[in-house]
Amino acid sequence: MVSCFGPSYELAFEMDAELRRRKMRHKVPIIYLTSEPYLGHMGVGGLGKSKTFMENEFAEKDIKPLVSQAIQEVAPGEIRLKDGNKIPFKLAMIAPPFKGVPAVLSIGNPRGFIPVDKNYRHTKHKNIFAIGVAIAIAPPEVTPVPTGVPKTGFMTVKMAKTAAATIASDVIGKTPPIADELGVVCLMDMGNTAALMKAYPVLPPRQSSYTKKAIWAKWMKVGFEKYFLWKMKNGMSSLP
Ligand SMILES: Cc1cc2nc3c(=O)[nH]c(=O)nc-3n(C[C@H](O)[C@H](O)[C@H](O)COP(=O)(O)OP(=O)(O)OC[C@H]3O[C@@H](n4cnc5c(N)ncnc54)[C@H](O)[C@@H]3O)c2cc1C
Repeated sequence: MVSCFGPSYELAFEMDAELRRRKMRHKVPIIYLTSEPYLGHMGVGGLGKSKTFMENEFAEKDIKPLVSQAIQEVAPGEIRLKDGNKIPFKLAMIAPPFKGVPAVLSIGNPRGFIPVDKNYRHTKHKNIFAIGVAIAIAPPEVTPVPTGVPKTGFMTVKMAKTAAATIASDVIGKTPPIADELGVVCLMDMGNTAALMKAYPVLPPRQSSYTKKAIWAKWMKVGFEKYFLWKMKNGMSSLP
């Protein structure tokens, strides 16, 4: 299924919060269906205590998890799973697995993701660079149902800077920069609150990883959105 799980968790928490605000949560069962082998795996083997964190939050909020699931088919009012089970629904948000666009299929892996080295240069074609969702990153472990490694916006910006510095070095005939290991920093909205999730590097074993729920994380999320939209509307996309 989808290779960035954060937005799916956000939606489950946001719907729960909104239904409670309208005092109708008891009329609406919420199911979180995922390819992850356990809650909080997020495609990266978890971030700090994210497994127990998500399990506790789901239990408290009465959101039913169904892990290690693959969808066979979506029919009107019914999701049919590969294991034969059927889940009726009135409203579903489904994030399908990502794959590369046809234009890059011939230089990508079987799913169309582009293999790159640490400087985001194609492993075979040295004049091709790729960053962001388009690149191939091998999962940290084999899971019963395949889960993709997320390539977040935070990671993508870092990749772009490394790729740009490498291209500049090529042009002026200098040694390319040594790329930093990628880390991940996410602010996960939870409706009334939010959580800060961090991991460095992205895949285990790690130097540090962390999940913490706090109202200041919500303020940071709202503040960052306003700042981001402001800088884009004012043509200042190069600001941090
Ligand atoms: C709902 C949601 C929430 C997210 N929240 C966060 C978050 O809180 N923090 C975070 O760090 N990341 C978040 N992400 C991830 C982040 O959006 C992506 O990592 C980031 O956008 C990847 O950048 P990209 O340039 O690789 O791809 P994109 O931003 O998807 O850009 C690809 C561009 O290519 C264009 N395109 C596609 N096909 C073609 C074609 N054939 N020809 C020409 N153009 C084409 C598309 O229109 C698009 O503009 C979220 C993603 C989603 C979906």
